[in-house]
Amino acid sequence: MTERTHKLLVVDDEFLNRDLLKQRLSRNGFDVAEAENAEQALAAIERGGIDLVLLDVMMPGMSGIDLLRLLRGVHGPSELPVIMATAVADSHNIAGALDLGANDYVTKPIDYRVALARIRTQLERRDADRAIRQSEERYALASRGTEEGIWDWNLLSDRMYLSPRWKEIAGYGEEEVGNTVREWFSRVHPDDRTPLRARLDHHLHSCDDPSRPFAVEYRLLHKDGSYRWMRASAHTVRDPEGRALRMTGCQVDITQQKAFDPLTGLPNRLQFLDRASQALASGLKCAVMFLDVDRFKLVNDSLGHMAGDALLVALARRLREGVFGDGAHEVEPVVARFGGDEFAVLLIGIASLRDAECAASRVLEALYEPVSLNGKEVFCNVSVGIAFAETLTPVDDLLRDADTAMYSAKSQGGARYAVFDETMRRRVAERLEIETGLRKAIERNELVVHYQPKVHLSSRRLIGFEALVRWRHPALGMIGPNDFIPVAEETGAIVSIGEWVTREACRQMAEWQIRYPKQPPLSVSVNVSVRQFRQPDLVDSVARILSETGLPPSSLQLEITESIVMHEPEAAIVTVGRLKQLGVGIQLDDFGTGYSSLSYLCRMPLDALKIDRSFITRMPESAADAEIVRTVLALARSLGMAAIAEGVEQDEHTEQLRELGCQFAQGFCFGKPISAQETEALLAMPPERAAAAVAG
Ligand code: C2E
Ligand code: MG
Ligand code: MG
Repeated sequence: MTERTHKLLVVDDEFLNRDLLKQRLSRNGFDVAEAENAEQALAAIERGGIDLVLLDVMMPGMSGIDLLRLLRGVHGPSELPVIMATAVADSHNIAGALDLGANDYVTKPIDYRVALARIRTQLERRDADRAIRQSEERYALASRGTEEGIWDWNLLSDRMYLSPRWKEIAGYGEEEVGNTVREWFSRVHPDDRTPLRARLDHHLHSCDDPSRPFAVEYRLLHKDGSYRWMRASAHTVRDPEGRALRMTGCQVDITQQKAFDPLTGLPNRLQFLDRASQALASGLKCAVMFLDVDRFKLVNDSLGHMAGDALLVALARRLREGVFGDGAHEVEPVVARFGGDEFAVLLIGIASLRDAECAASRVLEALYEPVSLNGKEVFCNVSVGIAFAETLTPVDDLLRDADTAMYSAKSQGGARYAVFDETMRRRVAERLEIETGLRKAIERNELVVHYQPKVHLSSRRLIGFEALVRWRHPALGMIGPNDFIPVAEETGAIVSIGEWVTREACRQMAEWQIRYPKQPPLSVSVNVSVRQFRQPDLVDSVARILSETGLPPSSLQLEITESIVMHEPEAAIVTVGRLKQLGVGIQLDDFGTGYSSLSYLCRMPLDALKIDRSFITRMPESAADAEIVRTVLALARSLGMAAIAEGVEQDEHTEQLRELGCQFAQGFCFGKPISAQETEALLAMPPERAAAAVAG
């Protein structure tokens, strides 16, 4: 193994024995020193350079056994290999000698071939050990002062060297952890053990690219009982056949990186779960608040992702420093970012749900102040869901409930909090049912269109209908659009639903115009959703439907909402213009509830404003609402548009609207939405009877 000549020390009180041995060994390439008693032997060893001792057991004075005891006391196990030489009759001494740390023995008379083989074996082993120890020392030196712990795994002997830093990372001193594979694996998190082994196995035995370094992340048990995240990487030494001989690698503690969100510096989801399960296991009353920024996508889309990031950072700071960093809580709450625009807060050891609600209110208050992004003031709201854990609740359940509550807050318009209750869970299940069922609703023929009359207010003459979709759900019964249109809008199903309603309404009206001709002809209006309006082929689709059904374009009105108009006003102006070119009428639905900008309103070629029901309803009691209606009517007039009052329920409304000069109306007063069949019956009546039927 090495080129250097090994030096052997032969210790025997009989000259003849020594001499014979010396000759044989020298002839086999060894350097041989002699000692005739224990004292001489010790002196020779102390002088140094001895690689192995061949020691006679029986010697006058200090025996070979005594000398061995002395040597092992000084040098420790296996440092200096010792082979005992003993007469066969003394073989009972051998066991004792091996116990004391002798490496091997030969019996006298010595069989030189056996002796040589044993000597060589011992020397090779000693050299190998020494080489390993040297490299370990090198690693230890190299790794001192770095963050990385070193590990070196001899796959043949299964010995594993772990550097002091490695042990320190796990919280242990140099002597507290042994150098074995077991010491490592026994500290690996139970959940990570199998994957870690699998990764190792794959790397060692079936890796397609043997030169690829090994890298893995796993959790290691710290002396303090917690688990820390480690990233271990290694290079593998292989023999020419590719068999792995040895893995040498390093390991760093990445708990900090793993536990924190790099953007906001807040603990991340993982860390949150950890803290939450600890807190819950300790029996403390906890609440989880789940936060989601309202319309965050809008910020990202309109101001850019950098601004979006800046908003999240600002929000994180307000939460951590403003709301939860004031020391008001006995145990400081954990504020974490879950990714995207989602945050979670863990309130630990609170007394009641009331405390959680107070905390949520304070979160909402903290957002009253706008955030400044690239010099722009941006108002940012959040929806908060609260779930309170009275008893031992699993973290996952608590989070799921808080998330459900958050959705509920969001669906109520956002900028509010909601506390989880069981009905929410039911609603989630229902929503899921709606979502899945909706995809099949058209092909299963479950959608129906109802028609609500629109009238000329002063004459009560019928001018047309608004087409309003309903869903005949096989399990839930008849469902109104408010319960499924928003879902369809979210999932995208609205596009095909909208198209279907448009086609059905146009087909129906074309048929009625032929069967019940009126002068001027009746028209039908169809609601267009945000998503539908943004379809690039909307105009083509409407044109196709008109030509397929044969309905004159002037008999179709599309009702769009202010949010459609204001989301991308320039694009909306173009689309509305193209629809108008088809000859279709455009009405602005629910006017007054959105945030229309007057400057865009003037540029939008609209035919009518539909005044939202809420103003009409409150008009008799509220002078302010009456004033709003009057203003909208004036606005419509000055923009050259018609006005249609929605939700006219009482004669009082009709009277007031007539006084204010409103031309058109729609509402229960003139007819509720009814099926096509019922509508047809109405159309078949003479006009006077029809009006009476509707009013009654
Ligand atoms: P909308 O377009 O404002 O339609 C008027 C809604 O007010 C209808 O509710 C109608 O039944 C109700 N309504 C009419 N007169 C009165 C009244 O005097 N009193 C009261 N309390 N309510 C009255 P509906 O049918 O439940 O539709 C709700 C909303 O669903 C519609 O509001 C519309 O935005 C949407 N929608 C309906 N059908 C469709 C559709 O085919 N496509 C799209 N995108 N949305 C639709
Ligand atoms: Mg409408
Ligand atoms: Mg409306």
